[in-house]
Amino acid sequence: MTHTIRWNLHGITKINNREIKEAARFLRDGMTVAFPTETVYGLGADATSKEAVAKIFEAKGRPADNPLIAHVATKKQLEALVDNLPESAEKLIDAFSPGPITFVLPSNGTCAENVTAGLSTVAIRIPDHPVAIQLLKEVDIPIAAPSANLSGKPSPTTADHVWMDLNEKINGLIDGGTTGVGLESTVIDCTGEIPIILRPGGITMSQIEEVVGKVLVDPALANKSEKPKSPGMMYTHYAPEAPLWLIAGSVDKLQEIIGYQQQSGKRVGVMASDETANALQADQVVKLGSSENLTQVAINLYPGLRSFKQATIDLILCETFSEKGIGQAIMNRLEKAATKYVK
Ligand code: AMP
Ligand code: MG
Repeated sequence: MTHTIRWNLHGITKINNREIKEAARFLRDGMTVAFPTETVYGLGADATSKEAVAKIFEAKGRPADNPLIAHVATKKQLEALVDNLPESAEKLIDAFSPGPITFVLPSNGTCAENVTAGLSTVAIRIPDHPVAIQLLKEVDIPIAAPSANLSGKPSPTTADHVWMDLNEKINGLIDGGTTGVGLESTVIDCTGEIPIILRPGGITMSQIEEVVGKVLVDPALANKSEKPKSPGMMYTHYAPEAPLWLIAGSVDKLQEIIGYQQQSGKRVGVMASDETANALQADQVVKLGSSENLTQVAINLYPGLRSFKQATIDLILCETFSEKGIGQAIMNRLEKAATKYVK
């Protein structure tokens, strides 16, 4: 068991504050520290140290063949980790970094082998969050940081979520309030002729196309029988405490399934847009935001999934969303979280 120190940095973000310096010292000493980013909370460790990185895998229960994202504060620090910077990556970095986009690039071997899971490429991101940036500047080494949740669970968007999953498993947690985007970064492979989106996320496909023209999407995102190019996309993810069914179709169809399941003795929870939720009756109804405002739905998605407790809900139903813009990332996460998709 590890004692977990919790630093409160709500609204306090000056570079020279004591908490950031202490957290940076923890990281330099090979310890694990969870910190807020603009996407979700990350669990950080020194990306150049195999021993430090191993602590992340252990705390999360993460499969060893799922590589991590190295976080840096500047483009210069990013360049120090790669063999070369392809032109597409250069353009995308200039357009979207710092921000919710991760670049898969040719590794120069600076990051430990368990960061890259032995691949010749390394995934790197510059987060756009004052606490994350200040911490990365202070520590001045690349920090490997996957989402700070137990592997398989919904990603954490508050420090309390991290605490629930990882208290006594990690060395430190910086509480910087609620994160922004609410979903993880877009992962884009820039090692080939045409960039390939491996995971949809905070930066949308059309935003990327505006900068580099043609982009591809990993075929495995649409076709479950293809092997994903991003190892992490193979695993069960974002799973709530009860089974989740994704339901495409009308409000009436949803209400009918709720009624049928309740009759068979199940306590049924529902997650839906405000418009749909207002028209439904169930044992627990969670409103995700207007279907016209998918940015808000993205923010509410993981807290929504975490709000259903095994003690009170046996089955969760969730409606589907448009795959436009951030909707592509929302649907990707929901499909991964769901145990059944009723079309
Ligand atoms: P997480 O940090 O938990 O949000 O997951 C990071 C994602 O980036 C996972 O889906 C990884 O498989 C993916 N990833 C990390 N490094 C690489 C890499 N070198 N090549 C392809 N995908 C990667
Ligand atoms: Mg994750």
